[in-house]
Amino acid sequence: MNYVALVTGGSRGIGRAIVQHLAKRGWHVAFTYCRSAEKARELVDELTARGADVAAFQADLSDFASADRCVAEVLSRFGRVDALVNNAGVSSVGLFGDITAEEWQRVMSVDLTGTAACCRAAAADMLRRHSGRIVNITSVWGVHGASCEAAYSAAKAGVIGLTRALAKELGPSGITVNAVAPGVIDTDMNRGFDKETLLSLTEETPIGRIGTPDDVAAGVAFLLSEEASFITGQVLGVDGGFAL
Ligand code: NDP
Repeated sequence: MNYVALVTGGSRGIGRAIVQHLAKRGWHVAFTYCRSAEKARELVDELTARGADVAAFQADLSDFASADRCVAEVLSRFGRVDALVNNAGVSSVGLFGDITAEEWQRVMSVDLTGTAACCRAAAADMLRRHSGRIVNITSVWGVHGASCEAAYSAAKAGVIGLTRALAKELGPSGITVNAVAPGVIDTDMNRGFDKETLLSLTEETPIGRIGTPDDVAAGVAFLLSEEASFITGQVLGVDGGFAL
C-alpha cells in the first residue's frame, strides 16, 4: 500500500525535515507552503530526483475555507490522505500588555484555527475509510507557557486540547490523533535569538544541545508508523529534556 501524507508548512524548517523523512520511508507526500514558493519547488525537485512522489500546494492556512480548498486539491492529485501533519505555524514575542488584537488573531488563526481546519478537512476523508493518523505540532510552551509568548503559548495549549478531544472523538473511527511538542529547534523561527540566549537555552537542555528539525521529524515518523497504532491522545516531547 502506498500511503499518502499531507504535511503543512513543508517549505522550511521542521516541516521540510518531516517531508524528507516521510518521502524516504516511501510515503507519497503532499506538502503546503505559504510564501516560500522557491524553497517548495527546490524540495519537490530534490525528492522527485530521488524517485519520491511529492507535490507542493500553496495555501495560507488560517481559516476553514483555505484548509478545505487545500485538502480538496490534495485529494484530487493523490486520491486519499492517510496521514495529516499539522506543522505550519508562526510565533510572536513581546510583552502581553503590548500585543495588539491583530497580532493575537494572527497567531491564533495560523497556529490553532488552521490546525483545527486541516483536521476537519482531512478527517472527512479518513472517516470514509475508517483509518487515519493525525499529528499536530504543538510546543513545549503549549505545555508550560512562556513569558513574553502568551498568544503562542495559548494557541499551542489549544492544539493540545484539540488533539486530546479529537483522539477521543475519532478513535472509534480508526483514527489516531497525537501531538509532538518540540523544545528549542534550530530553524528560522529562532533566528531572532542572540548568542547569549541560545547559549542559556542550550544550558537549560539536559541533553546539552539545541534540537534539529530531523529530531522532530523522527518523532513524527514514529507516530505515523505501524508500531504506534495503539498510541493516541499523547503529547510526545522532543526537547532534549528541556521541559523536565
Ligand atoms: P519556520 O518558521 O521555519 O517554518 C514555518 C512554516 O510554516 C513554513 O513552512 C511556513 O511557510 C509555514 N507557514 C507560516 N505561516 C503560514 C500560514 N499562514 N499558512 C500556511 N503555512 C504557513 O518554523 P519551524 O519549522 O521552526 O516550526 C514548525 C512548527 O514547529 C511550528 O508549528 C512551530 O510553532 C513549531 N515549533 C517550533 C519550535 C522551534 O524551536 N523552531 C519549537 C516548538 C514548536 P512559508 O515559508 O512557505 O511561508
